[in-house]
Amino acid sequence: MNPEHPVKPATAAAQALGYVDPGTGAIVPPIHPSTTYERDADNKLVSGRLYSRADNPGYEQPEALLTRLEGGAATAVFSSGMSAATAVFLALRPGDHVLVPRVLYWAFRNWLAGWATAWGLRVEAVDMTDPAAVAARVRPGETKLVWVETPANPTLVVSDIAALSAVAHGAGALLAVDSTFATPVHTQPIALGADLVMHSATKYLNGHSDVVAGTVTTAALNEHWQAVKTVRSQAGTVLGPFEAWLLLRGMRTLFVRVEAQSRAAQAIAEHFSGHPGIEAVLYPGLEGFPGHGIALRQMRGGFGGMLSVRVRGGGPAALGFIGKLRVWKRATSLGGVESLVEHRASIEGPQSPTPPDLVRMSVGLEDVGDLVADMERALPGGRA
Ligand code: PLP
Repeated sequence: MNPEHPVKPATAAAQALGYVDPGTGAIVPPIHPSTTYERDADNKLVSGRLYSRADNPGYEQPEALLTRLEGGAATAVFSSGMSAATAVFLALRPGDHVLVPRVLYWAFRNWLAGWATAWGLRVEAVDMTDPAAVAARVRPGETKLVWVETPANPTLVVSDIAALSAVAHGAGALLAVDSTFATPVHTQPIALGADLVMHSATKYLNGHSDVVAGTVTTAALNEHWQAVKTVRSQAGTVLGPFEAWLLLRGMRTLFVRVEAQSRAAQAIAEHFSGHPGIEAVLYPGLEGFPGHGIALRQMRGGFGGMLSVRVRGGGPAALGFIGKLRVWKRATSLGGVESLVEHRASIEGPQSPTPPDLVRMSVGLEDVGDLVADMERALPGGRA
C-alpha cells in the first residue's frame, strides 16, 4: 500500500495490506510449504530466510497486517495463544517478579501458578482493575512485567491500560495486554501505553473456529522482544503454512465480523438486563457495568462480541439453561461465526473462581432475533 496515502485499518485488513503477488499478479498470496531456503554460491541466504521453524513468508503476511492494525513495531505469530502468552514470560529470567491479574483465562492462570513459578518467576496475582492496588504491589527494579487481560475471560472485567502502563513504567516494568476479547477493531493497547499486545488468534483474528494460533505484537524492537523471537524459533512454536494462510484469510474480514458481533452482543446484553431468569448480565457496553466508564475511554466503536450471564437459580439453573439451547452451540472457545456458550465453572474444575451460575457467551453472526428467542425459550421464567 502507498505510504503517502494511508488507508483506514479496515481497508488494510480487507486487502491484506494491498498484497499482489509480484510473479503472477495474484491478489491472494500463495502458501509456502517449503521448510528450507536456498543459499547462493557465496553461501549467503538468497531471501534472508533460513528455516521455517523461524521464518516463512506465510507468517510474515499476518504479522505485517497485525503490526499495522495494532500500531506496533513488529509481530510474531505462534502455534497457539498459549504459546504466544507463555513466550512473553519465558523471555524473562528466573527470579524476575511479575504481576498478573486475578481474573484471566484459566489455562494461563494454571500455567503461571504451576510452570512459570516452578521455572523461577515470582508470580503475584493482583486486582488489575484497581491501578492503586497494582501501584502498591509493583516493585521498582524487581518487577519486569505487568500482564493484563481486558475485557477479561470470563467475567468481562475491564482494566485501565493507560493507568496500568503508567504504573508499570514507573517501576521499570513492561506492560503486556491480552487483547483477545477486545480485538484491534475496538482497542489499540500500544496507543494507550502498552509495550506488548497478545492475542489468541484462534478467536476473532482467524474468526472461523478452524485454526489454533497466537500472536504477540511489540511496541519496540528491544532486548525482551529479541528473547520472545528466540523462544519461538528455538521451541519451534510456529504455525503450519496452511494455518498461517487461513489466519490471514480470516483477518481480511475481521472488521465486518467484529463490528456485527459487537452490535449483536450489545443488543443481547440490553435485552436480557433485568430479565427475570437472569441475575446479572456482564458486558462492558452496559451503562451499569462497573468497568463501563473505562471501556468508553479505551474501546472504540463497540465493546466486543463476548458477554456472560449469571442465571438466576445457581449452577443447576445455568446448566439447565444451556441444555435447552438449540441455536447457540455448547462448545468451548469463542470468536467464531457461530454462537457458542460455555458453563465455565464445569470446565475450570473445583479450583475455579468462576461463579457456578455464570454462562459465557460468544456471539456469532446469526440473526440476532434467533439468538434472543433461543435464550428466551431456554431461560427459567422465559418470556417466549
Ligand atoms: N487468552 C484468552 C483470553 C483466551 O480466551 C484463550 C483461549 O481461550 C487464550 C488466551 C489461549 O489461546 P489458545 O487457546 O489459542 O492457546
